[in-house]
Amino acid sequence: MSDFDFDLFVIGGGSGGVRAARVAAGETGAKVGLAEEDRYGGTCVIRGCVPKKLMVFASGYPEKVAEAQAYGWDMTSGDFNWDHFHGKLAAELDRLEGIYRKLLAGSGVETFDARAKVVDAHTVELSTGERKTAKHILLAMGGRPTMPDIPGAELAISSNEIFHLPKLPKNILIVGGGYIASEFAGVMNGLGVKTTQFYRGAQILRGFDDEARGLIAEEMIQKGVDLHLGTNVLEMKKVDDGIWVKATNGSEHVFDHVMFATGRKPNTDDMGLEEVGVKLGRKGEVLVDEYSQTAVPSIYAIGDATDRVNLTPVAIREGMAFVETVFKGNPTPVDHELIPSAVFTQPEYGTIGLSEEAAREQEPIEVYATSFKPMQSSFAGCSDRVLMKLIVSQANRKVLGVHIVAPAAGEMIQLAGIAVKMGATKEDFDRVVAVHPVMAEELVTMRNPTRTG
Ligand code: NDP
Repeated sequence: MSDFDFDLFVIGGGSGGVRAARVAAGETGAKVGLAEEDRYGGTCVIRGCVPKKLMVFASGYPEKVAEAQAYGWDMTSGDFNWDHFHGKLAAELDRLEGIYRKLLAGSGVETFDARAKVVDAHTVELSTGERKTAKHILLAMGGRPTMPDIPGAELAISSNEIFHLPKLPKNILIVGGGYIASEFAGVMNGLGVKTTQFYRGAQILRGFDDEARGLIAEEMIQKGVDLHLGTNVLEMKKVDDGIWVKATNGSEHVFDHVMFATGRKPNTDDMGLEEVGVKLGRKGEVLVDEYSQTAVPSIYAIGDATDRVNLTPVAIREGMAFVETVFKGNPTPVDHELIPSAVFTQPEYGTIGLSEEAAREQEPIEVYATSFKPMQSSFAGCSDRVLMKLIVSQANRKVLGVHIVAPAAGEMIQLAGIAVKMGATKEDFDRVVAVHPVMAEELVTMRNPTRTG
């Protein structure tokens, strides 16, 4: 038994922190404490991926009803009942939080419903005033939305509040062009809210494949999102009927709500980190090595607090690798290469590896791409298009990137990701017999490059 209160003290009860705490306690018998100041489950479960995906589902039904009508069904969608959905959503999040608490308790982790900050290399102080010592401290505080510094910005909501609106607005302005802004533009539009999106750049989803970005934006506009590119908010004021917004293009509008989805920041303020020698980067992210170890050897950090790849499954991997390294004596670096991901825009986007533009910067490539109307919606007379795209290295024939814009693209990219992670070549893809008739069969039937160079 060590002289410390705990072998491990975890700060933050989100996906990464909970996983590390559970595995360390449950599989290695370590004595583990965990502090969470808000709700267990963190951003993903409480105010991110999970409620967002449920809202994506909710927002997809009117389109499905319209499609069903085209197939001969006699049905109408009626009105969306926000109170009904919101009540069920709240109950579901309570259920999930309960599961997280139970998993921690079941693994023998002692939890503290309090904020914790670091006092020295082996001590944390809780907001209750208690101090706890630990051989190792794991920082897993996650991140939070940032709001731009413009007059009236305090009138806006962030993605934290969008799940708790007392009623569904008639209209909304969503500012930003990243994952969160583009996903919520689709959600709100699908729920019947008149949705305007301002993005300051030339095209939404900067950093992703240009062809995919173009198709997603085009389809979003066609579904009804009033997307303004090259446009930002200059100023906002409260007026009787909502929030008055002056845009950089000179236009003025009044919206029921304005949501900023203009990026996120690690939760490292006022944590005592720099005082004890933990190094932070420019955005406040905890700087760590490949084993998630900070500049203080007894302190490690994982997840969005480190601003490496800000995705739940990555935080979970980092948490598992930390336990493997520190508690199982098996130094395990985290592999951040070739991570598949999905953007739940409407249409959905699944991607792994390099965009065409990034790949071309790296080496000579071949691009195999096809865009077409999928059978199900085409039969219904919809003009929706999907994109299937492979980026292939000319030198070694490896598939460097896969880009899918299609219904259930997230499901497809999970599977295509296995092949890419294994180092599959274009010829490996070609050796697989097509599944017919499905959209993804195009991934193994594209014979001639669309572009080379
Ligand atoms: P992103 O960093 O992806 O996007 C921020 C957006 O806001 C960009 O379009 C950026 O523009 C714009 N922006 C930044 N500052 C300003 C400003 N002052 N005024 C106007 N616009 C501004 O952040 P998100 O908040 O969308 O998402 C955060 C992270 O959460 C993502 O990176 C992702 O890792 C994760 N996430 C993942 C999801 C998924 O996997 N499906 C879903 C949601 C979030 P510019 O491009 O010009 O910089």
